Amino acid sequence: MSDVRNVIIIGSGPAGYTAAVYAARGDLKPLVFEGSVTAGGALMNTTDVENFPGFPDGIMGPDLMDNLRKQAERFGAELIADDVTEVDLTADPKVVKVGEDVFHARSVIIATGSGYRELGLENEKRLSGRGVSWCATCDGFFFREQDIAVVGGGDTAMEEAIFLTKFARSVTVVHRRDELRASKIMQDRAFANDKITFRWNSEVVEVHGEDRLTGVQLRDTQTGEESSLDVTGLFIAIGHDPRSELFAGQLDTDDDGYLLVDAPTTTTKIPGVFASGDVVDHIYRQAITAAGSGCAAAIDAERWLQDQG
Ligand code: FAD
Repeated sequence: MSDVRNVIIIGSGPAGYTAAVYAARGDLKPLVFEGSVTAGGALMNTTDVENFPGFPDGIMGPDLMDNLRKQAERFGAELIADDVTEVDLTADPKVVKVGEDVFHARSVIIATGSGYRELGLENEKRLSGRGVSWCATCDGFFFREQDIAVVGGGDTAMEEAIFLTKFARSVTVVHRRDELRASKIMQDRAFANDKITFRWNSEVVEVHGEDRLTGVQLRDTQTGEESSLDVTGLFIAIGHDPRSELFAGQLDTDDDGYLLVDAPTTTTKIPGVFASGDVVDHIYRQAITAAGSGCAAAIDAERWLQDQG
């Protein structure tokens, strides 16, 4: 059997790296699997982050993650940029596999985040942080007096649209059907807002812009007719997919796949397994809340290990 680690951390977003800083400073010598393509997490796909405390002038997403990574390394966290492919969390010690390689740990912290659903269009990713966004709380501030579109018809889309009217000149909600999925109360609020208009039976088929978003192409889902909409902001609110498949059958999730913990702690139903960040949180989904729960997970793990003697 390989060395048994005190703690293995799966994930390298704000939750995973913060857990690593705390666990390393607690002398637990954590091993962190950062993921391969997506090491650094969701903020690697954005530009300015202006709401992470401690950076009065803002910081670029990748720079923030690089700082967090260095901070974890400085205290002795061991980082491996690979994807965990299988786990057995009920085994003693717990088993974490990366392909053929097998690792063992007394405790595991899960911080695998959640993927924002994309439209799957050519320029969408390239213009992320340059007009295309998945988070109104994060980016609404950048769109003062601008015309923006929100894609989606659920509660989140309505929440984002209403929030964005604080800043934007106009908000156009683009929805594939002729009625919303959102709750009645959210619909009423959106319909009552003068700044919000609706493009029913419409889908975004192209995202325009070189360095920044300049507009989108819409297609009528019934007639197939296309039209362009000049917007400098596009907020995509068509849902999230928590990355919890790896733990299916071992840990409980809610109906949407978010891991369940014994809040306000990060304890899961398996002793010694803790979960933090956006794979748990379907409410706040912010870098600072993810970092905060990563901190909590490391402290929970440290205390649990101490209790085990
Ligand atoms: P993530 O950051 O998603 O990290 C998850 C990590 O898990 C990744 O490193 C991934 O590689 C790893 N992982 C997943 N599966 C595996 C596996 N099997 N093996 C190993 N590793 C794995 N929030 C703000 O507060 N301010 C902002 O300005 C802001 N802007 C944003 C802009 C964009 C474009 C996006 C997408 C999000 C933004 N957010 C912002 C939200 C913020 O990024 C998230 O709330 C935060 O990153 C969640 O942190 P996390 O650690 O839980 O997960």
